[in-house]
Amino acid sequence: MRSGRCECENIVYQVQGTPDDPHLCSCRHETRISGGPAVLWVGFRKDGLTWTVPGGEPTWYPTWPTLRRGFCPRCGTHLVSVADDSDTIMVTGFSLDDPTGTEPVGHSHREEAAPWMTITLAPEPLAPLPTSP
Ligand SMILES: [Zn+2]
Ligand SMILES: [Zn+2]
Repeated sequence: MRSGRCECENIVYQVQGTPDDPHLCSCRHETRISGGPAVLWVGFRKDGLTWTVPGGEPTWYPTWPTLRRGFCPRCGTHLVSVADDSDTIMVTGFSLDDPTGTEPVGHSHREEAAPWMTITLAPEPLAPLPTSP
C-alpha cells in the first residue's frame, strides 16, 4: 500500500501492489501539461486505487478519445492517466509519497524529447535561486 497526493492535499490516493512499468514520457501532451521535459509514470492496478479524502477526486480531461487524465481542480497537479480498456492506472511518479521502485525502465516518445534531456542532472544555476520560505 502506498499513498500519493496533489500539492494542495485536496486529493490523496492510495494504491496497492507492485509498481508496474515505471517510465518517462516526453509526448507533446505531457510536456505541455506538466511544463517539464518528461512525466514519470508508474502503473498500478486500477481497481486498487482509492481516493481517500471525501469529495477529493480529480477533474478528468481527455487527451485522446480513449484516454483521460486526472488533475486536482484546485492546484492543478497532474495525478493520473487511464485508458478505457486497461486494468492499469498510471500515476505520476512524483505525486507518490514513497518513490521506492519507481526508477524509470524506459522513455516513451524519446524522439520528441528536448535534445538536452540527455543531461540527467543540469549544473548549478548561474544565479542563485531565491530561497523558499
Ligand atoms: Zn491539489
Ligand atoms: Zn505521453
